[in-house]
Amino acid sequence: MTKRYLGQNYLYDPSILKRIIQVAQLDEEDLVVEIGPGLGRLTKMLAEKVKNVVAIELDDKLFAKLRVELAEYHNVELIHGDALKYSYEYLPQFKVVSNIPYYITTPIIFRLLKAKENLESMTLTIQKEVAERIVAKPGGKDYGVLSLMVQYHAKPKLEFIIPKGAFRPVPKVDSAVVHIEILERPSVLVRDEEIFFRVIKTAFSQRRKMLSNSLKSIGEDVKERLTESGIDPNRRPETLSIEEFARLSDIVKGD
Ligand code: SAH
Repeated sequence: MTKRYLGQNYLYDPSILKRIIQVAQLDEEDLVVEIGPGLGRLTKMLAEKVKNVVAIELDDKLFAKLRVELAEYHNVELIHGDALKYSYEYLPQFKVVSNIPYYITTPIIFRLLKAKENLESMTLTIQKEVAERIVAKPGGKDYGVLSLMVQYHAKPKLEFIIPKGAFRPVPKVDSAVVHIEILERPSVLVRDEEIFFRVIKTAFSQRRKMLSNSLKSIGEDVKERLTESGIDPNRRPETLSIEEFARLSDIVKGD
């Protein structure tokens, strides 16, 4: 029995699994974390390619099956638990390669970005729509908090689309593989990360409104702050580049 609420859609096509491994750019010395190994197909291919695999599976039945299925793979450490609660901070340098359960896509990406100190890259199979939001540039409806959050810490690339028919059971949406390479330093310099993300979240919480309206809660003088940053207060958040958000948040921070 598959449990849809746990996002259980398995990837069968071996040629797609191979392509995922290719875009992950793995090395034989690597430690790879896989979130939601399911039936262990990708896990086995990873184990053959890299030094160690940590595979985190929440489902009791699948976990029991995986123990048997992967018994011969001595370089795989199977963890029974919730990937959102795992302490990635304690791992040495690692990469993530995973067809993740879709209901945790955004929280798991944010969780992993918090542990980015030792994280090199993430190669994720996710919903196509979310992949498009991650790589989106200013100017369209896909561009928003997720794009800016990821592009602040990393360089994301949409590698290829996987039609829904490649999964069992067949999900409702198409998928895509994104490769997200963590940057050594954030893509823009800001004086205060917290304020930077607060400005972004507040601006996009009312994405159809002009910044002078949506950012009112940031401070009384928001119109002046915008003008001071060289940003027309009548603009809408989706037109601002990451550099412009950085400039604005630095001016909001003041001194
Ligand atoms: N990677 C496999 C399975 C993907 S389905 C494949 O490509 O075939 C998603 C998997 O994530 C399922 O095995 C599901 O049980 C597991 N899962 C769901 N929620 C999880 C969570 N919070 N932590 C870890 N695993 C989870």
